Amino acid sequence: MILELKDVHAGYGSLSVIRGVSLTVEPGQIVTILGPNGAGKTTLLKSLSGLIRPTGGSVILSGTDITRLPAHRRARQGLLHVPEGRGIFDDLTVEDNLRLGGQRLDRSTQDRRADEMYEMFPVLSERRRSRAGLLSGGQQQILAVARGLMSRPKLLMIDEPTMGLAPIMVSEIIASLQGVLDSGTSILLAEQNAAVATRVATTVQVLSNGELSEHSADTGDADAIFDAYLA
Ligand code: ATP
Repeated sequence: MILELKDVHAGYGSLSVIRGVSLTVEPGQIVTILGPNGAGKTTLLKSLSGLIRPTGGSVILSGTDITRLPAHRRARQGLLHVPEGRGIFDDLTVEDNLRLGGQRLDRSTQDRRADEMYEMFPVLSERRRSRAGLLSGGQQQILAVARGLMSRPKLLMIDEPTMGLAPIMVSEIIASLQGVLDSGTSILLAEQNAAVATRVATTVQVLSNGELSEHSADTGDADAIFDAYLA
């Protein structure tokens, strides 16, 4: 098991947003948290990456309880968050953005990993000397994922990567996620688009009112997922 959540609670002050979420991510899986705007997807991911502290429950990464670790130590243990809005530095080149993802590595390892990323995502190779701010939205999303992979995390948590993208770019992002799995990193994805969720995920969990729906299903059962989401 890569990630295990046991009865996680989280919120802001007296506002309780996540109310007892339990789930697991196995090696090689993409697990999608599907929910509408405001369902608490981002809050859940933040509580896992340590940007906010869970108010209850536990978070276990590869057998280690990380519930009380600060964010930077969770990242070092291999739990990496690609936030909504991507967090790309517009004024830096593609290459420098990638290097930031590997800043704890020595220079030659950085070079090697960056080359691996260019091989995995040729669109970045073509643009390596461009300012990241000049890339399209979809290319920036791929850069954000590649930057996250520079440290070879065990699990990448990605928040709404297809938001606002044209359908052709959505397909490209989905293909890039498959590349991430092939490189040995599992994925926890937050998504509000049910069609994307069922296309990409191994398992879809529907989040509503801070809880996962009982109707969550393997992606083979797309009808059940749509029913749960629209209920
Ligand atoms: P979106 O698709 O808009 O990102 P989401 O499912 O990720 O939606 P969250 O951003 O986790 O939802 O928000 C869940 C609830 O928590 C909302 O009611 C929101 O208003 C509230 N919330 C989010 N961030 C904060 C904050 N910093 N302080 C107080 N309340 C917040």
